[in-house]
Amino acid sequence: MTTPHMTIARTVRGLRIIATPWKRAGLRVGVVPTMGALHEGHLSLVRAARAMCDRVIVTIFVNPKQFDDASDLAAYPRTEEADAALLREAGVDVLYVPDAAEMYPPGFATTISVRGVSEGLCGGARPGHFDGVATVVCKLLMQTLADHAFFGEKDFQQVHVVRRMVTDLNLPVDIVTCPTRREEDGLAMSSRNRRLSADARARARALPQVLQRCAGRITAGETPSAAMEQARADLLAAGFDAVDYLELRAASDLVPLMDTPTAPARLLAAAWLDSVRLIDGVDVAPVG
Ligand code: AMP
Repeated sequence: MTTPHMTIARTVRGLRIIATPWKRAGLRVGVVPTMGALHEGHLSLVRAARAMCDRVIVTIFVNPKQFDDASDLAAYPRTEEADAALLREAGVDVLYVPDAAEMYPPGFATTISVRGVSEGLCGGARPGHFDGVATVVCKLLMQTLADHAFFGEKDFQQVHVVRRMVTDLNLPVDIVTCPTRREEDGLAMSSRNRRLSADARARARALPQVLQRCAGRITAGETPSAAMEQARADLLAAGFDAVDYLELRAASDLVPLMDTPTAPARLLAAAWLDSVRLIDGVDVAPVG
């Protein structure tokens, strides 16, 4: 069996030399932006891109602009060789791995800031985070010339920020979202999970369990604030050190919900376990 060919590009120029002829030939180009340390969640996005597009580009860039905490950036896992092997096997055409100097050359002065959907939740807990996300995603979309871009629902607020930006700036790209892939015990797959000790990893499963239970209570008619207060207490009792947020939002536009939802909603949380910040979210079925 021959290993499929995958080109690694490290510069915008190198990437464009490959992608421009694809566009001229009318091929559909898909991009899957990532920060590497790839897992099955990322690969599910790659498979979705493969199914929908003629050519697939995966980007790996640990974007310094979206980290508000230098130690978190330094600790972010980097596993490029293993990532490249997985992507080659998955039939990716180009792996694009720019470095920070390529992405933000001297004199770089532009920030894309999306108001509204970026406020609160991860935007509240991590100042500047979504400016960094919007700026780099916009650049990656322009650099790759993608027709379709694939994002995971795991980062629910990020999807809203990206969709808002694409609409507001008339970017000629279709945003595709894919469901959250989970480990057998329900923990959402994440590159950050590999920073958990065995003991913390065992406790981490409480996050999806507590969220599911809370969602069920809300759908059963319990007041959201009471159900969420109980969920916070349950997370702390399960060994989480702190809860950044646990909130009920409208699935369509992220508007905060105080009452029992009558349209699709999402329960979203971020919590700390042994210096690792985990995020997750579950759908809350509307009542009535
Ligand atoms: P990251 O490398 O964490 O920045 O993630 C890159 C992309 O993969 C984002 O669109 C994420 O939402 C998506 N992703 C991360 N984890 C998962 C998961 N468990 N299931 C599905 N998509 C995911």
